[in-house]
Amino acid sequence: MSNATLANVDRALLQQHLSERCEPAYRAGQVWEWAARGATGYEQMTNLPDALRRRLEQEVPFSTLELVEEARSSDGTVKALFRTHDGHPVEAVLMRYRDGRRSVCVSSQSGCPLTCTFCATGQMRFGRNLTSSEILDQALHLRRIEPVDHAVFMGMGEPMVNLDSVLEAARALPDVGITWRRTTISTVGWLPGLRRFVDEVEEPIRLAFSLHAPTDELRSELMPVNDRYPLDEVLAECMRYFALRRRKVFVEYVMLRGVNDRVEQARALADLLDPKVFKVNLIPYNPTGIYDGSTSKAIAAFKAALDRARLPSTVRLTRGRDIQAACGQLAARPGRS
Ligand code: SF4
Repeated sequence: MSNATLANVDRALLQQHLSERCEPAYRAGQVWEWAARGATGYEQMTNLPDALRRRLEQEVPFSTLELVEEARSSDGTVKALFRTHDGHPVEAVLMRYRDGRRSVCVSSQSGCPLTCTFCATGQMRFGRNLTSSEILDQALHLRRIEPVDHAVFMGMGEPMVNLDSVLEAARALPDVGITWRRTTISTVGWLPGLRRFVDEVEEPIRLAFSLHAPTDELRSELMPVNDRYPLDEVLAECMRYFALRRRKVFVEYVMLRGVNDRVEQARALADLLDPKVFKVNLIPYNPTGIYDGSTSKAIAAFKAALDRARLPSTVRLTRGRDIQAACGQLAARPGRS
């Protein structure tokens, strides 16, 4: 079991409750073990005394999040919309793949302060950073639907802005069935957090960089964060991650019709990225208003140009588009399934 032994409930509240009643310290670990294995409430925790279970039920909410709505896509994807105790919306997605993988995509913030122009989350009002318990509760909720084995921090928010809570949650995921090697934390290039991630994280957690444009000029148009932290500085930090950890960096590249999908832009991307360090993930765009998604022909031509340059790449399988659960579509709008 990881060090983050509590998480499904508000950890401060649970700890306070247990210590006020002079309960042994290991009770908190027992609660976490049950939650991580998919328990749906205290009543299932049969190694806790009856009286304690009843008290916990009354005094410590089992989850820090309240489920507002759950939508299911025709491809099996599940999107859950939650609310925090102070009313902030949070979304998480369970993606089911034909090869058996079950991946959770969790949010690190309610809304996002970084306003990337192609992203629905960036257009909604920023709420606040989520606590590690609120992040883990998303994974635990989806794990109750079925066992899960992969996690991506690619939901609402920029994980590197809320790095402490994100890491605390990520470090506890092996208890839920998701190893660190199957956990990916994504960033648009928020350098202060990324630097800390590179320096401090010794667990084999993977890094994804949302790049989306091969030049500073275009990138700044799409992602205001680029004005603050330009491409060469962020790429240098990704190289440092590779040098220190010997793990490749995934580059996320959303395909916007007529904006960043031309073959010469693929060549520029290949010039920018060392094939030993980076692997590109081309993401068919799920329209959210301003842009159109690239045609499959344009995506194929772009990928062929990367292939010719021997830069490894894949085209991401889109999941949950019909329930606004796909990349860039999370915006906490209930009732749209
Ligand atoms: S792409 Fe990520 S960083 Fe940009 S606005 Fe959306 S959630 Fe925020």
